[in-house]
Parts: sequence; C-alpha cells; structure tokens
Amino acid sequence: MSQPPAPTAPTATIDPAQLAALRQSLQQAFEGRMLTDDDDMVPFLSDWRGRYHGRALAVTQPDDAEQVRKVVQWCIDNDFRIVPQGGNTGLAGGATPDASERNVIISLARMRSVRAIDPINNTITVDAGCTLLEVKEAAAKAKRLFPLTLPSEGSCTIGGNLSTNAGGCGVLRYGNARELCLGLEVVTPAAEIWGGLRGLRKDNTGYDLRDLFVGAEGTLGIVTGATLKLYPEPVVTLTALAALESPRHALKLLELAQKHLSASLTAFEMIADICIDFVARHHPECPRPFAEPSPYYVLLECSDAESQEHATERFETLLNEALETELITDAVISDSLARTKALWALRENISEAQAAVGKNIKHDISVPISQIGDFVEQTNAELEAAFPGIRMVVFGHLGDGNLHYNVSPPAEREGPAFEEEFLALQPEMNRITHDAVVRFGGSISAEHGLGVLRRDESARYKSATELRLMKAVKAAIDPDGRMNPGKVLPPSAAA
Ligand code: FAD
Repeated sequence: MSQPPAPTAPTATIDPAQLAALRQSLQQAFEGRMLTDDDDMVPFLSDWRGRYHGRALAVTQPDDAEQVRKVVQWCIDNDFRIVPQGGNTGLAGGATPDASERNVIISLARMRSVRAIDPINNTITVDAGCTLLEVKEAAAKAKRLFPLTLPSEGSCTIGGNLSTNAGGCGVLRYGNARELCLGLEVVTPAAEIWGGLRGLRKDNTGYDLRDLFVGAEGTLGIVTGATLKLYPEPVVTLTALAALESPRHALKLLELAQKHLSASLTAFEMIADICIDFVARHHPECPRPFAEPSPYYVLLECSDAESQEHATERFETLLNEALETELITDAVISDSLARTKALWALRENISEAQAAVGKNIKHDISVPISQIGDFVEQTNAELEAAFPGIRMVVFGHLGDGNLHYNVSPPAEREGPAFEEEFLALQPEMNRITHDAVVRFGGSISAEHGLGVLRRDESARYKSATELRLMKAVKAAIDPDGRMNPGKVLPPSAAA
C-alpha cells in the first residue's frame, strides 16, 4: 500500500532544554522503545491521505499493557495529551496529533502477539497491535475464519479496526468489527488496566463498557488487547460479477440473491462503470470484465459449506433467473483462484485508481438498504445540477446500505492544474450530499469514523440529546480531555 508523501519535520514549540528534559523523564518512566528524532517521527505525524499533519513530544512504542499504562501515568503527571495509533491507515485523520507539541503518541505497532486461540469457543485473543492480516492468518492456522476484510489488512491493526468499528466486505454476513468483538483490554485515561477479555456470547451484567470503547476512535482509552469471534472456514468461496442498469436493479438482485443463497451470500458490492474505467486505465492487469460496458456492476461472493459444485450450481441458478427476468444483462462466475482474485482486484483497486486520476471528494455514507436506489438517483441529479460535468464515482457495500459516494472533476478538468479549484467545492458538495443522507435517514460516516474530518459535520446533524449524552460519556471516562483531543467531538462539546 502506498504511503502519502512525508511532510517536512515539524518545528519545536517547547524550549529545547525543556524538551530534552521532558523526553528523558518520559523515557525513564516508561522504559520502552521511544522515537523522538524529528525524522523518525514524521510517518506518525501525518495521516494516510496526507491531509493532516501534527506534532508530538515523542512516539512511544510499548511492548505490553503495563508499559502503555506507564506512558498514560506520565502524561497525567506532566499534563500531556495522548494520541493512540495503530497502522495509521484511518481515513478520517483520527490518529494524527494536533499542532501542539504537548502530545504523546502511543503506537501499538510492537504489541502483536497472538495470546490464545480457543477453537471450541471459536475465539482468538490478540494484542491490539496485531495487523488484521496476522489475525486472519493465525485463525486460518487453526482452521477458523476471522471474517473482517479490508483492503488495508496488511497494515491496519485490530486495535484500530475496533476503535473505528471498521466494516469492509464481509459485514453483510458477519457484521462489522463491533459485532466480531467479545472482549477488550483497555488502558483508561486514569492509567488503570481494565481486563475485559471475556470470550462470552452472553453477558448481561450492566452497562456494556466494551461497546463504549469500540468505535471511540481513541477518545476514551487505549485498546491493548481483544478477544474476537471466529467462524468455521467455508469449504469453498465463489465470486461472480454481474452487469446491470442501475442501483435499483442491484437492489432487486440483492433480494433475489438472498432468496437463493440466504446466509451463504457473504459479499454484495456495487460498482459504477466509471470505477471500472479508472481501474482499467491505471491497472493494465485489470482489463474490463465484459465486451460491452454497463452502467453498473455487482460483485457477489458465496461462501458454501458443501462443495464447489454445490456453490456453482446455486450461483448459476441465481444468475440464470436474473438474466431471464432481465435484472442483469451479463454475468461471469469465477472458475479459478486467479479469476476470483482478478474480479476482486476490480473492486479493491478503485480507491487507488481514483486517486491516480486526481484529487476527488469523498463521502462514506449509509442509508437504509431499501433507499439506495432513490438516494443515488436523487442525489446524483442534485449534485450534477449544482456542478455540471462532475463524475459520480459510486461504489461500495450495497448489501450493507453503505456506499463510497465519491465525486471526481469533469474529464476536461482532470489534473493538478485544476485540483485546488475542485477541492474548494468540497464544503458545498459535502453539504448537498450529507443533507440528502440525513433526509434518507442515513449516516454521514458509515465505516471510516469521524476523526477530525467529519467531526463538525456530525455535530451539525446529531440531536442535542445525542450530543449531550456523548459529551457526558466523554466527561465521565476522560474528565481531563486527555485522550485524543479534538477527535469525534468538537473541542467545545468535549470540554
Ligand atoms: P489508525 O489509523 O492508526 O487509527 C484510527 C483511529 O483509531 C484513530 O482515531 C486512533 O487514535 C484510534 N486507534 C488506533 N489504535 C487504537 C488503539 N489500540 N486503542 C485506541 N484507539 C486506537 N475502513 C473500513 O472500515 N472499510 C474498508 O473497506 C476500508 N478500506 C480501506 C482501504 C485502504 C486502502 C485504506 C488505506 C484504508 C481503508 N479503511 C477501511 C480505513 C482503515 O483501514 C480502517 O479505519 C482501520 O480500521 C484503521 O486501523 P489502523 O490500525 O490503521 O488505525
């Protein structure tokens, strides 16, 4: 995965002698690995998209929860703020410190042990710094499936996945990160270790603290370990791609696919034709899948517990019915691992291909699944009327009601010379899109979290009661506002 260009190292704002003394004191208190050199810290001070840049006294890299606790205690004693960081692949700027130097980054990157696997309880307990890929591989060794699936799996961490309540491509069948989490170990802003690593499917013993920390984006504590749900491995996983006219046709196909495949339907991703065009332009290894282009496509995955023949037969029955009823115009079923990878590459390379075309304006929205057709039709029309010539780059997890509803500039205004002018339209485009999302009963951040990117807009759309309750939770757990300040809640609301 490519990284954003490194910005220049930040300039110190604390007197150099005091800075050195503070760093020495932190090092003595914590006794773990720590980066303080400006150049070494640079990758930790910017977000993946290169939009946010900040400063920190140090990047600490603890080896265990006790070392995390010691860093937190030092931050309390010296009035520093704490920014937890996993793989730094988040798309909302949540892991980037602010411009003040009174931040200490706690990077979980060195905490990556698999603590236990219980194949009968179907659970795995891991350090929060394990990458998603490492957890999936450890589960596979025990012949189990950990189903969370993100294109960033080689870099993002379980702590980050839980803190952003990540979604991805398996949510339709297995749920998002929250639904895959049974227990947590957390270092609180009061420098305590909460040992909540329970592997229980049932536990009704009061307020669910685990669910408070999941999706909190590091604003309530530092996740240091997690117990996660595992599933039996499917015997076979088959992929198909169908060409169709519109999101409305895709919705009808979803209904039909659920009728034919029920719980075996594990992914249902919609892709607008322009995405395929971008991918084909920038990834020559991913040619157009059909001779004739189609306005939309759907990528379907079926995980079958019986056999390849059984899965193929079910897919063929479904797709034949969809062709006969003119729901789809063409379809292909993967007949090899290489073909499956090629079909998924069409979907997974979209973000990178769109970035290669030039700057774009992103929205990560969800609406009730039944509303997707109306939402796309009406909001496309509204945006195209306000900004003639723009290109709607729409793709995503239609089976979850979640679309990456992105906008690229008109074809004749592609390229660096027009980027600034295009990005200046962002506030107005966000407003039109997010007002529409809210009208349709949806969410302005379906899976990427709020961070700083969507923080203020989210506050605009939440009710006074919802904001008051969120602020009360923050004040109860982190009364000094030490944890990841400025993220999720606007600073005024968090105070
Ligand atoms: P970071 O980016 O390091 O942090 C994210 C947030 O979590 C920050 O607020 C940080 O403070 C907090 N945090 C991190 N670790 C901890 C911890 N241990 N304790 C407390 N707080 C913590 N996301 C999706 O949901 N679905 C996708 O399909 C998807 N695709 C992506 C594709 C690409 C190419 C990229 C670059 C990103 C994608 N993402 C996707 C976004 C990103 O990968 C996820 O949000 C991921 O869960 C972030 O994990 P991370 O370890 O990188 O967290």
